[in-house]
Amino acid sequence: MKKIAILGSTGSIGTQTLEVVRANRDIQVMALAAGSNIRRLEEQIREFHPSLVCVWDEEKAKELALLVKDCEVKIVSGMDGLLEAATEPQTQIVVTAVVGMIGIRPTIAAMEAGKDIALANKETLVTAGHLIMPLAEKCGVRILPVDSEHSAIFQSLNGEKRSQIDKILLTASGGPFRGFTRERMASVKVEDALKHPNWAMGRKITIDSSTMVNKGLEVMEARWLFGVEMDQVQVVVQPQSVIHSMVQFVDGAVMAQLGTPDMKLPIQYALYYPDRRFLGGSRLDFAALRSITFEAPDFENFPGLAMAYEAGKAGGSVPTVYNAANEYAVGKFLDRKISYLEITDMIASAMQHHTKVEAPNVAQILEAEKETYEWLESRWKFA
Ligand code: NDP
Ligand code: MG
Repeated sequence: MKKIAILGSTGSIGTQTLEVVRANRDIQVMALAAGSNIRRLEEQIREFHPSLVCVWDEEKAKELALLVKDCEVKIVSGMDGLLEAATEPQTQIVVTAVVGMIGIRPTIAAMEAGKDIALANKETLVTAGHLIMPLAEKCGVRILPVDSEHSAIFQSLNGEKRSQIDKILLTASGGPFRGFTRERMASVKVEDALKHPNWAMGRKITIDSSTMVNKGLEVMEARWLFGVEMDQVQVVVQPQSVIHSMVQFVDGAVMAQLGTPDMKLPIQYALYYPDRRFLGGSRLDFAALRSITFEAPDFENFPGLAMAYEAGKAGGSVPTVYNAANEYAVGKFLDRKISYLEITDMIASAMQHHTKVEAPNVAQILEAEKETYEWLESRWKFA
């Protein structure tokens, strides 16, 4: 039996992880954590019998404890609870599927407790990659990518030497506004941005995909995961989302991983690596597909991608500011307090204002996050 914990179990990745668990009978769920969705947590407790569950919201945690008082489960809350869920003693793999920088501390705690990480929470690697990657080595734990592109790169690297990577070709669908000009994006509403052409995901990452900030975060994620320079990660727009990413080696050979868009594949691959298991669902039909097309990314109309390269190359605390400003702005956009184009305007102004801290520790990363929020809060005019 493999023993896992899922942080963010009620979300898009979390529930799909539990689908993988349900379809295979040799994974035991030891701990779960979520923000506030106690209805779904109750269902998950009754089906998967974890021994520990964290609800971030303390009041909701109390409510949940009452709802499941007939079950043998300990309910905890807040950051202490999240750290307890991340370090549950019997767990071997922690699936980090919370959204945002809240994932940094539990990911570090899990690694220090000797757990392998199935990493979906890219914001953690973007902001703290310089701490996470050496720590994984020091603790002797694996970071197994769940993000579909990074899983594709990871699969393309099977049996290869990382020192022989020339380039990582990170594919992007281009999102719902591919081909739009900034003028046309000015009138984009929340509902429009929440419609992704190929993937059904959580709200924040769906907005990030529409602005290409998600791809920017993924460039930085790839840089840490595979130990390459920012300029070795090239974004290739491939609107059908059939090629999940590719690696070009020093001899010019390109290896790619293809498939239908289904997050259960990368999730299952991370949980069983290096094995493959049967996974139901549709298969690629190349005759029906007929063509796969490619485009260069549009850095001009999608400044979120250009700024990610800038942030990644600057390093230090700058990726934290990029990420924090985006998290803040996307929250405001979803609350209809700012317009669509203001998301990237906010990132630009936060990056401009910030004074870089070299090689920040966790406290300095969290401080840079807080400063970014406070600065945007005080400076921005909200509707
Ligand atoms: P969702 O918004 O669907 O889910 C987020 C999860 O995090 C929910 O379970 C939520 O709980 C939980 N959560 C939020 N705040 C806290 C907190 N303070 N403490 C504990 N749990 C919390 O997000 P996704 O599943 O889409 O994304 C999760 C991560 O995976 C993100 O980093 C995203 O970038 C990455 N990712 C997602 C992909 C996808 O297909 N969805 C693809 C690749 C990467 P609650 O429901 O109670 O709010
Ligand atoms: Mg992705």
